[in-house]
Order: sequence, then C-alpha cells, then structure tokens
Amino acid sequence: MRTLAVVGGGVIGLSVAWRAAESGWDVTIFDPDVGSGASWVAGGMLAPLSEGWPGEDEALAFGAASLARWPEFGRRLQEATGLSVFVAEQILTVALDAADAEDLRTIAAFVGAHGHEVRLLDRAGVRGIEPNLARTVRAGLLAPTESAVDNRLVVEALRRCCALSEVTIRPETVAALTDLDHDRIVLAAGAASARLWPELPVRPVKGEILRLHHRPGAPPPPRHVIRARVHGHPLYLVPRGNGIVVGATQYEAGFDTAVTVAGVRDLIADAEAILPALGEYELAEASAGSRPGTPDNLPLIGSLDERVVAATGHGRNGILGIPLTAEAVVALLDGELLTEVKVADPQRFSTGGMR
Ligand SMILES: Cc1cc2nc3c(=O)[nH]c(=O)nc-3n(C[C@H](O)[C@H](O)[C@H](O)COP(=O)(O)OP(=O)(O)OC[C@H]3O[C@@H](n4cnc5c(N)ncnc54)[C@H](O)[C@@H]3O)c2cc1C
Repeated sequence: MRTLAVVGGGVIGLSVAWRAAESGWDVTIFDPDVGSGASWVAGGMLAPLSEGWPGEDEALAFGAASLARWPEFGRRLQEATGLSVFVAEQILTVALDAADAEDLRTIAAFVGAHGHEVRLLDRAGVRGIEPNLARTVRAGLLAPTESAVDNRLVVEALRRCCALSEVTIRPETVAALTDLDHDRIVLAAGAASARLWPELPVRPVKGEILRLHHRPGAPPPPRHVIRARVHGHPLYLVPRGNGIVVGATQYEAGFDTAVTVAGVRDLIADAEAILPALGEYELAEASAGSRPGTPDNLPLIGSLDERVVAATGHGRNGILGIPLTAEAVVALLDGELLTEVKVADPQRFSTGGMR
C-alpha cells in the first residue's frame, strides 16, 4: 500500500488525510497538537462572494469553486459522523455610510458579472431580515449561496472521519521532511509551513476573535452572518447555536498568539456599532491565531518536488478552502491537476515560474 505522511493536522491536513485514506493511501498525520492551530480559532465564514473585489478574479474563482463543494462535503461529514456543521445559511454585508454603500454596489457588480447571485438591499430590506441591527445601517448586500460552519465542529468531524478511515495520528513535531520515509508527503503545517520548506512564501498573519454566549433576556443572535466595515476595520458576526463569534483583527505580528487588550476593545466597540445589544451577551472566550498568509492571498497547492505536495497558505479563507483543497491534493497525488487549483501552483513564486 502507498504510504503518505501529512505534516500538520489542522483542517487542511485532516481533510487531505481523510480523503487520501478513502482513496487507498496508508496515511499518517504528524502533529504535536491536532486541531490546535488557526482551524480552532477561526470564525467559519464561507464568504468568497461578499469578499469579492474588482481585480481579484482568481481569488473569487478559487473561493467560489470551494463554496460550491461545501454542501456535498458537509453532507458527507454528517453521514460519516452524525455532526451537522452548518450554522448559518446566508451572509449579509451591511453599510454604515455612503462610501460603504458604494462599495456594496461595486461588489454586487463584480460578482454579478462573474455569474454569482447577490442582492442589494435598502435600509428597510435590511431591517426586514435583521431587525436588531443598529439604526445607522443604511444598506446591505445579501449573498444567498454563502454560509458559515462551526469550525470547531468541522475539526471534530474530520478527526472522527480520519479515525473511521484508519488514519494514524502521531503526536510529533516534524523537524525536517527528510526525516520521513513515506512514499509521498503533504506539507500542511499552516503558518509554520516555511519552517519545513523555506522557499514557500507563507507568513503568520495574526487574528484575534471573540466568542460570546447568549444570556437570558438578551436579544437573539442574528440569523445571518453579518459583515461590515467599522472605523476602517473589517468586522463579522457569525451566529452559533448559543451565541455569536465576533472577528477578527488582522496584524503582521510574527508568531504571536497573545490576545491584546486593544484587540478585544476594538472588536467589542466595532461590533456594538452594528449590533447594539451585544453588550448583554457573556464574553466567553477571546483567542488569537496565525493565518497562513501568502503575498497574493491565494493558497499554495501543488507539487514542490517528486515526493512533496504543498497544501498551505490559505490565509483568511482556509475553512472555505477545505473541500477544494482536499479534492485537489488527492488528485495531485494521483498525477492529476484540477483546473480550479492551477492559480494556486506554488511555482508561481519561483524564478521563471508562472508570475
Ligand atoms: C481569527 C481568525 C479567523 C478566521 N476566520 C476564518 C473564516 O471565517 N473563514 C475561513 O475560511 N477561514 C478563516 N480563518 C482562516 C483559517 O482558520 C485558516 O486558513 C485555516 O485554519 C488554515 O488551516 P491549516 O490546516 O492550514 O492550518 P492550522 O489550523 O494552523 O494547522 C496547522 C497545524 O500544523 C501543525 N504543525 C505546525 N508545524 C508542524 C511541524 N513542524 N510538525 C508537525 N505539525 C506541525 C500545527 O500544530 C497545526 O495543528 C481565520 C483565521 C483566524 C486566525
């Protein structure tokens, strides 16, 4: 049987390991603490359309291709484990001023021109579907095909899928890929991937995020994921069964996962500008993680040499990218290249590469 080592057991490594084991590989995941990285910290939005912007056609195409695979992927997770991972069905981006409203029209025109359905809403339209948002909200953009998952449930479901598919987990840090004697290796060490393959342009991008619990008497969480830009900061509220996840800050801070007072203060202040009743919720958790960032905000999926395949660099969209990445990496291990991941070829950064 062909042997495969997967280095890193975040959502990317776990999903690749599961799908590879299903297609006949003898898989071992190496990770000192499976599921403890960015995958545990994330918000869980699947938002390639709401994040669309003119000129970012490749990111839109990659994200939309993965979003399209999520319903079937979620169904398979549920079938295998009984866990239902979806927490919201649509994403509503709201505008607080005229410049924000103009941005929503720009996004709608851009993603609409690529054939995706989004709807512009006026003030009354927003209030009609989310009555508890601030009165200052003046317009909205609804993306009916976008959604959100509970990323921690996804980690748990993928762990169970790996166990069911007889993936071996070794709780070890890999010091060098040359220490592994497997037929093939998938490098999925998230923000730390460049420590094992220094030419890979992956860097940690710090993000802080809050988890709030609903308290008796407080207004219920929004039904949609709510996104906005407040005081120049991107902000999102992702509903959970028992509350709301509020994210996220973004800094270049190296490998630093300390939660700062300023980060928490800004997130709460910005979130209250969108959902005034938020102060009635319980602040249950503040955490920080390292997104695996790349220079062009596209992931790195492709062969690094005849043995090693990279599956990393998903930045702020790694939860979104799970289904397409897993499918593409398993195809690559069999020598096939999915059209949708050509833009993610790591060789684009090497001399004489794609770019
Ligand atoms: C605050 C925040 C909010 C986010 N929100 C969203 C969102 O709403 N939607 C979305 O799509 N994405 C979101 N993301 C991004 C998403 O979390 C990441 O892109 C994704 O989790 C990356 O997964 P990964 O498996 O590559 O990395 P990780 O989850 O970081 O996993 C990497 C794993 O590799 C292991 N590892 C590292 N080095 C080694 C080694 N040498 N040997 C063995 N193991 C090693 C680590 O222990 C870790 O478990 C968010 C991220 C943050 C920080």
